[in-house]
Amino acid sequence: MTARDHIAVGLAKIGMVLRSHAWRQAEATGLTPTQAQILVHLVRRGPARVSALADEIAVSQPTASDAVAALIRKGHVEKRADPDDGRAAKLHAKATAKRTVARMEVWPDALLEAAHVLDPIEQSAFLKGLTKMIRTLQVSGAVPVQRMCVTCQYFRPNQYPGAAEPHHCAFVNAAFGNADLRLDCGDHVEAAAATQEKAWARFNRASA
Ligand code: SF4
Repeated sequence: MTARDHIAVGLAKIGMVLRSHAWRQAEATGLTPTQAQILVHLVRRGPARVSALADEIAVSQPTASDAVAALIRKGHVEKRADPDDGRAAKLHAKATAKRTVARMEVWPDALLEAAHVLDPIEQSAFLKGLTKMIRTLQVSGAVPVQRMCVTCQYFRPNQYPGAAEPHHCAFVNAAFGNADLRLDCGDHVEAAAATQEKAWARFNRASA
C-alpha cells in the first residue's frame, strides 16, 4: 500500500468514529443523522430553502425534502414564505429545535481528545494538509462549497514569508498561522475564481 492508501484508511477510521457518534446523537434526540444535520444548519446559519440545505449537506433534494417533512411533523421546523421570492418558501427553526441543538454534542469527545494528543507543530501540519485535501475535494465536486480560508476574498496567504504566522486575514486585519486556518468560517466571502487560483498557488509555496 502507498502513503495515499494509508491516509485513506486512517480517514475511513475517523469517519467510523463520526458515523457512530451521529447515530448515538440520533438515538438521544429522536432524529436521523440527516435530520440532525439540517436542524443544526437552520439553527446556526438561519432560514434556508430545501435546495440550499441539500447542497450544504451533500444529499439529494428528495432526501432533504423527506428529512424536512419529518422535522416539520416533529415540530422542530416551519415553512414560511421567502420574502425575496413570493413563490418560494424558506425553512425556519422553531424554539424546540434550538433547545434540541443546544443539547447535542457537535463533536465526539474521543475525537477531540485524539486531536489534543497532537503537538502544536503536528496540529498545524495536519490542518494545512486537511485544508489542501478539502479544497481539492471541493474543486472536484465531491463535497459542497466550504467556507474555508483558501477560497475567501479576505485571505492573504504567505503575506509574511518565514514568519510563524505567515497568512493574513483582511477581515479582522490580523496575521495567523496554519493552525488557525478555518474550514468553516462565518465571515467567509467567496473570492472570484481568478483570485482563488492566485491565492492557492501562493498558499502552496514551500516557505509556508
Ligand atoms: S474571514 Fe474567515 S475564512 Fe476569510 S480569511 Fe478571515 S478567517 Fe479565513
